[in-house]
Amino acid sequence: MDVKGKLLEDSGVQRNVFFTTIEQLKAWSRSRSLWPMTFGLACCAIEMMGTGGAHYDLDRFGSFFRASPRQSDVMIVSGTVTKKMAPVIKRLYEQMPEPKWVIAMGSCATAGGPYVYSYSVVQGVDQVVPVDVYIPGCPPNPAALIHGIRMLQEKIREDGKRGKRVK
Ligand code: SF4
Repeated sequence: MDVKGKLLEDSGVQRNVFFTTIEQLKAWSRSRSLWPMTFGLACCAIEMMGTGGAHYDLDRFGSFFRASPRQSDVMIVSGTVTKKMAPVIKRLYEQMPEPKWVIAMGSCATAGGPYVYSYSVVQGVDQVVPVDVYIPGCPPNPAALIHGIRMLQEKIREDGKRGKRVK
């Protein structure tokens, strides 16, 4: 160990101080306070609502559903994305402030689900807005949605570690 390292060890600095960057700190803070927009499109939305209830208690992860895109940073697309609804989804996404993320919940939002040959259904919401996390299932249960939110938290923290700047 060099002299500098010895001095740091003797003074207890190595045990009591940790180093980080502002980007990492911001990413960590954001990952712990994701506010999803209340946004159900079909049956998957019932499971999403269950996630916010007392049994699954999404609040413990710092996530609170908001009724306005202006107060939200996560869009959970839970349900069938019809071609008529697609422009509305895009407009709501654009109304959300940066930084923002999208979770595609269920096989409909991921790839059209059982309506894969339908003339009226978009075959995956990623054709309308960029998607960060895909959750399979028809429907995925609340535990699967919580897993998806945890994956998004991890992604945000990893982006912070890599120095990826978010606005
Ligand atoms: S994935 Fe299944 S449960 Fe979810 S909206 Fe589509 S049909 Fe309904």
